[in-house]
Order: sequence, then structure tokens, then C-alpha cells
Amino acid sequence: MEAKHCLLCGQVMIERDVDGTMRRACPDCTYVHWGNYSVGVGALVKKEGKLLLVRRAQNPGKGYWTNPGGYIEQLEPIGETVCREVLEETGVRATVRSVVAIRDLPRAIHNLYIAFAMDYVEGEPVADGLEVDAAGFFSLEEMETMNVAPFTRWLADVAAGDESGEGLQIDTDPVVPLNGLGLFRLQTK
Ligand SMILES: [Zn+2]
Repeated sequence: MEAKHCLLCGQVMIERDVDGTMRRACPDCTYVHWGNYSVGVGALVKKEGKLLLVRRAQNPGKGYWTNPGGYIEQLEPIGETVCREVLEETGVRATVRSVVAIRDLPRAIHNLYIAFAMDYVEGEPVADGLEVDAAGFFSLEEMETMNVAPFTRWLADVAAGDESGEGLQIDTDPVVPLNGLGLFRLQTK
């Protein structure tokens, strides 16, 4: 599917050379259709060595156990999105510690998934009954007999090895003023 009309002004789009590549672009304003992308965020919330998982009640992935998460919203910082998804799906409050894994899935809609190590704050897992129909904390051993989605199993391995608390952490005090940006970086001692 090619973009026919400009998303900003509604003009019929044309093919235009943008820095050496032909792209769908608007002849009247600055809009360029760069491609189709989506970004997902996922939460790795650990409590006493066990990982928070939910069982998907809807497709895609109905019946599979996964970590909580969802797609980002246009104007919501990703750290807030992942906290909100955990709370909505399970009733558990958790805060972002660091970014610990990324999955790249280049396809018709190019998907990027960012996994966050989260610090458990409070709440017993209760499924929302809509997106997910079960929720709980599970060890790697318990996961062996559960229908865990393969990618979630990979993330569980990431979470299991993350005892250091390292990864890309929120930079609340950047060395130069960068107002309005969400910044995640390696901490340098
Ligand atoms: Zn336009």
C-alpha cells in the first residue's frame, strides 16, 4: 500500500527524490512518507527472582504467556507507556530501571520492540480479563511447563542474567540542556 494523500495537508502525493532515494512525498508541504513503522515496549518485572507474565486472551498470540507490554502512543513517553501497560494488564505497579534488549523486525510494517528492566513497587498480579486472562510471577523452571512465547522465553533469559542493574538508564541530568527528550544511556562511572 502506497500513501496516496498527504497526512498533513491532504494533497495528492508524488514521487520525489529525497537525498538520492525516490520517496512518496507531498508537493505542497514538507511531508515525506518514510515508510510504515511500529514500536512496541515490553516490561521485565522481577520479584524474588521470578518474572511477571500474562496469558494473552486475544490474538495475536492467544493462549501464550508473554511479558506485559504494548504499542507506544503518539505523544506518550515510552517509559510511561510501559508502566501503564503493566498496571492495566496486571494491576502491578513498577518503575523503569533500564533498557535491556531490543528486537528488530523489518517487514511490511517495520517493528521495533524495546524491553525494559523494571523495578517492582506494589500489587499482586490480577489479569485485566480483557487483554489477558491470567497473570503471575514465574521462575524459569516453572516456565518450562508453560506455553511461553519463544520471544518471551528469550527475554526471560535476558532478565535472569540481569543482576547488575545495568543497561541504558534514564538520564535525568544530561551534560547539556536537552529539554523535552527522553534520554536513555550507559552510565559512566
Ligand atoms: Zn502536504
